[in-house]
Amino acid sequence: MSRRPAARPTIVLAVGARPNLMKAWALLRAFGRERAVACRLVHTGQHYDDRMSGVFFEELGLPTPAVHLGIGSDTPARQTARIMLAFERVLAADPPALVMVVGDVNSTLACALVGAKLGIPVAHVEAGLRSRDFTMPEELNRVLTDRLARWLFAPSADAVRNLEREGIPPSRVHLVGNVMIDTLRAHRRRADRSNVLWRLGLRRTAYAVLTLHRPANVDEHERFGVLLSALEWIQRRLPVVFPVHPRTRAQLGRLGLEGKLARLDRVIRTEPLGYLDFLKLMAHARLVLTDSGGVQEETTALSVPCLTLRDSTERPVTVRHGTNVVVGADPDRIIVETERILDGRGKRGRLPPYWDGRAGRRIARILVRDLGPGSR
Ligand code: UDP
Repeated sequence: MSRRPAARPTIVLAVGARPNLMKAWALLRAFGRERAVACRLVHTGQHYDDRMSGVFFEELGLPTPAVHLGIGSDTPARQTARIMLAFERVLAADPPALVMVVGDVNSTLACALVGAKLGIPVAHVEAGLRSRDFTMPEELNRVLTDRLARWLFAPSADAVRNLEREGIPPSRVHLVGNVMIDTLRAHRRRADRSNVLWRLGLRRTAYAVLTLHRPANVDEHERFGVLLSALEWIQRRLPVVFPVHPRTRAQLGRLGLEGKLARLDRVIRTEPLGYLDFLKLMAHARLVLTDSGGVQEETTALSVPCLTLRDSTERPVTVRHGTNVVVGADPDRIIVETERILDGRGKRGRLPPYWDGRAGRRIARILVRDLGPGSR
């Protein structure tokens, strides 16, 4: 009698916002190599426009999501709730063996909560990061998602220690490295072929890059204004490329700061850039100023000095091992640290352990072992 092979366990990988997509690429590549599991991509639509989502599908060759929930912007509670309602229908219609979430955005928490409520095990990629600043929406998402997860894939040893301290059973926690760096390493060469420096009229190592979008920096007139004053000084020393996040663009208008920014003639404002252009820009920058989580990591991987315009970081490994310095929004500190970098005294850093391009593969192997036929 012939026996039909058992169906492969399906993983639903939920993504929603820009930084999720770079991480998803590494996971999809790894699952594609491990034939023992199938992976279905679900996009919540938290980020929906081309520049924040579509372009990355094109550039990275990500598969069209099996389901697009089309949620869009909303207040945090309404957005989270709407994702939950829609995602519950997706899981109920065809329950997978596992729900995988990445990062720390609202989609991460919403999808983890739905999986856990339906009794479907949840895996969290980028588990254990902690800023200990509960005014950050992302910190709430991180802590709550980690409480719900059955598999916690940590990018660094500090993340493992945080989870240990919170009483998460060690058997659930796996130090696997950083999937965002898998994607960066795999695209470095392609990115170097981008002509973005030529398009913006820049010379290698003779410009800075700035990104800003955290509510703590762009939602209040005073703090955003102070950051723009520091930028005023920096752009007198070298041109600064500033791809403006849609959230930041809206706040510039609301706070009446557009004019102040427009008067800085060596600040090159652009739309949010594609991944390959942005990677090329970072790789050849003299310095990067940012409040992004992912950019702190990518600059460490590229050995490019990074000043983090926040009061804390959930990624201390980028400070201890890498090129990152947390400077907050204090203009004196920002200027002193910028001077240090321009004088050639910036941090060179070294790569944190396991940031070797193989994090996705480690995750896939653990899940194949735990979900595969031998495990049942
Ligand atoms: N990024 C990009 N274009 C840009 C700015 C950033 O492709 O104009 C990439 C960046 O290289 C990183 C990711 O977007 O891979 C970071 O996303 P974001 O800063 O929005 O999120 P965070 O990491 O702070 O959660």
